[in-house]
Amino acid sequence: MSQVAVVYNPKKISLEKLTSLFPEAELLIAKQVKKGLVELGDFSKLIVAGGDGTLRIVVQYLMENHLKTPIGIIPVGTGNILARNLGISLDIEQAAKTAMEGKLKQIDIGKAKVRSRSPIFFTGIAGLGLDAKIMEKTDNRLKKRIGWVAYIEGGIRALPARFQRFNITVDNQQPRRVKVLTLMIANTGTLPGRVELIPDAEVDDGNLDVAVIGPRWIWNWIDVLGRITWQNRFVRPLVLGRKLMDATADLKSLEYLRGRKIKVESETECTLQIDGDPIGEVKEVSFEVIPKALVVSC
Ligand SMILES: [Mg+2]
Repeated sequence: MSQVAVVYNPKKISLEKLTSLFPEAELLIAKQVKKGLVELGDFSKLIVAGGDGTLRIVVQYLMENHLKTPIGIIPVGTGNILARNLGISLDIEQAAKTAMEGKLKQIDIGKAKVRSRSPIFFTGIAGLGLDAKIMEKTDNRLKKRIGWVAYIEGGIRALPARFQRFNITVDNQQPRRVKVLTLMIANTGTLPGRVELIPDAEVDDGNLDVAVIGPRWIWNWIDVLGRITWQNRFVRPLVLGRKLMDATADLKSLEYLRGRKIKVESETECTLQIDGDPIGEVKEVSFEVIPKALVVSC
């Protein structure tokens, strides 16, 4: 029996490439894991070759089955948020070496609970509000072709943004009432393009970090990303978008909260994204950190 399994997204990496990298491993398509068509329980290591969505499928499986099988990551997605935060190379050959021979590190997992639905586990960032709208509106083909610039474009299409009122309860503290554009709950702190969303967020500190984000900060973020991968076709939408936002730019921009349990209540239905996947409209979500629940070779 093969001890190592590679769970992969065939849209992001070819079977031929994986066979050459891992000749001994069993190759499994991520969608089949998601549908419960294959078991991962017997493997001594799982290598995830795909984007943040593929990673989330494997993490979800491990958590639901109470497994602590070490994973390796071949980051061939758009965001690759966890890989970047752990310093895993975006070079496929390098990442393959790290996946097999790297040091094992225990990291925290985030858990999101929406009413009676089964818990959703995540390694990176969950977002409510504009951030989730951006993910929902981002064109998949565009995302594949130009990477994170697509998220900017999605952001423009999500405008004009609505402000959302939230009550946030951190651990057993008094609930706080905030009016924001977007709320991000993070297990990791760095976004693609080396954008430090939450500079103090650590992937193994037993806490989730919350960024409460107003409009001015969003535009700084887009500015930074824009400068990295500036392309003419995006200049016009950016300028237009900026004009739209200027009218509302006087709200508080950015605030951080931190805790083990974060309860978010929204006054109105609000879009939720988890690790880049749109989850739907919600009114209440409970987030919780599960300390050192995942073992990663990095
Ligand atoms: Mg943390």
